[in-house]
Amino acid sequence: MRFIGINGGTFDPIHFGHLRAALEVQQKLNLEQVRFVPCYQPVHRQSPMVSSEQRAKMIELAIQGQSKFCLDTIELERGGPSYMVETLAALKEQFNDVGLVLMMGTDAFSRFHTWHNWQQILKLANIAVMHRPGDGLALYSESGQILSAHQVAKFTQPSEQIMDVLITQLDVSSTAVRSHLQNDMPVDYLLPPQVIDYIKTHQLYQ
Ligand code: ATP
Repeated sequence: MRFIGINGGTFDPIHFGHLRAALEVQQKLNLEQVRFVPCYQPVHRQSPMVSSEQRAKMIELAIQGQSKFCLDTIELERGGPSYMVETLAALKEQFNDVGLVLMMGTDAFSRFHTWHNWQQILKLANIAVMHRPGDGLALYSESGQILSAHQVAKFTQPSEQIMDVLITQLDVSSTAVRSHLQNDMPVDYLLPPQVIDYIKTHQLYQ
């Protein structure tokens, strides 16, 4: 089966934690491409600090030259609250001959059972949980139960399957990047230099 990765997030801003994890999952699952899907209006967290166009632009700068990565502005074009189930339904129509793999970090997956219509998400796509070492999923938790009910070692169907993919731990978060910037501390080596230049030029996160 052929698969493409759907890497959703706020990306406020994108950093090496997002990028390295996406590359490792792409390689391990042999994904034809990874589509970075910035949300317009997050439904599980407070509003981002910069505009959706700026978050998208930073993704574009960060993935330049990585041929398997692309930016998908579907949620920006749709506007309103960014429900992943709607995004996947639209992408499923657009890419009807490949399986979709929704990529989520362990922290995001631990709240998956609270996502709008999560059952339908599983009908539309498989899920790759990007397992950050040391950040285990409690098996008795609600999301842990969803994982064990759907867990496989290899995707063999276009949907309803979940894989736990071990990735290199890079303890970088957008929260930490924003906090360094607000405190006028360097952010070098946490995110790509071209994104840092963009942030400085546009005086973001001050
Ligand atoms: P914030 O600190 O603002 O909450 P974040 O750094 O967690 O942001 P998001 O854009 O909210 O980034 O996350 C998008 C996706 O990327 C989520 O699935 C999240 O689990 C994953 N992710 C974020 N940081 C990492 C990291 N360092 N390693 C692996 N996955 C990550």
